[in-house]
Amino acid sequence: MPEPRHVYDLTLPDWEAWVQAQSQPAYRARQIWEGLYRHLWARPEDFSTLPKSLRAALAREFVFQRLTPEQEQVSQDGETHKTLFRLPDGPVVETVRMRYIRRRTLCISTQSGCAMGCVFCATGQLGLLRHLSPGEIVEQVLYYARWLRGQGERVTHIVVMGMGEPFHNYDATLQALDTLNHPAGFNLGARRVTISTVGLVPRIRQFAREGRQYNLAVSLHAADDELRQRLIPVARRWPLADLMDAVRDYIARTHRRVTFEWALIRDVNDTPDQARKLARLLRGMLAHVNLIPLNPTPGYEGRASPRERARAFCAVLEEAGVPCTVRLRRGIDIQAGCGQLAGQALGPRPRFLVGSRWEN
Ligand code: SAH
Ligand code: SF4
Repeated sequence: MPEPRHVYDLTLPDWEAWVQAQSQPAYRARQIWEGLYRHLWARPEDFSTLPKSLRAALAREFVFQRLTPEQEQVSQDGETHKTLFRLPDGPVVETVRMRYIRRRTLCISTQSGCAMGCVFCATGQLGLLRHLSPGEIVEQVLYYARWLRGQGERVTHIVVMGMGEPFHNYDATLQALDTLNHPAGFNLGARRVTISTVGLVPRIRQFAREGRQYNLAVSLHAADDELRQRLIPVARRWPLADLMDAVRDYIARTHRRVTFEWALIRDVNDTPDQARKLARLLRGMLAHVNLIPLNPTPGYEGRASPRERARAFCAVLEEAGVPCTVRLRRGIDIQAGCGQLAGQALGPRPRFLVGSRWEN
């Protein structure tokens, strides 16, 4: 018998092919899709719209759960939750949920660990354990969507800023987001989704041609090649000039504003010199800069910039006409920083990371 497939790995056309193979009419595919993503049914027996034989086939051929929640943490203010999920083959991933006024934002992971090795990032310090499948990305969202529904709420925004580099797992990430965006199912508006990349140039160029409405954020962190390559090893492959060309190409094609992320590291990249270089790099561009004080991690000695430094940095940008925001730290007491997730269960002893997060 073939390995059971994960229900969330299938696209709607995949379901159409499957129901056809079951000698069922095509509309059954849509009923399955609605069951999964509109009703959020989590077991084959929930599919009351389907004949018994089809429910039995679902139960035989598919698994509905690949993520096992292992640890939940809630911040002191109750507004940020983090879940550590175990995958069936052993690795873990983390997902963070944030309440912010009317927003219910999820920060989701696309890989367990990350291969990019950014020196300040706890996920990067782990290395890559493995890519997530589309279904494993989707299931993080459904887990919280069910939970929120119990309180009469919905997921309103998704940021792909959890563990991993989404453009290193490009196809799975896009398929997962397309599933969540599908109007017949989960129907989360594309403009409520933000993908954050460390700057994989060929993928930015590819993404610009997809015709998708997801927002793009680029993690910059330095405005010259020497510093950027020190912080982000993968940046050696693509100098800043190439990265900025790709971003300009993206903006020209999509007419969409790009967010640049910048973790402010005291005396490293929070200097007036870096601010001026960044202003020069972005002047006249359809861009926005998100500044966030670094969250110290065990594997990196850098410290967060003090608030006044962040404000001064922002002022230089604004003077040059580059919009900029200094972001709040949230979930810091539960190490729930997007991008600073490191699967505490992984280390030889539990590792607690100091976290923050982006508001958008
Ligand atoms: N791999 C993608 C998305 C996940 S990281 C990327 O790098 O963009 C999400 C964000 O968290 C990125 O901007 C990343 O640079 C940032 N980040 C990682 N570690 C951080 C830390 N210790 N303090 C502040 N921001 C951090
Ligand atoms: Fe990977 Fe992003 Fe962390 Fe860099 S910052 S190591 S790309 S998760």
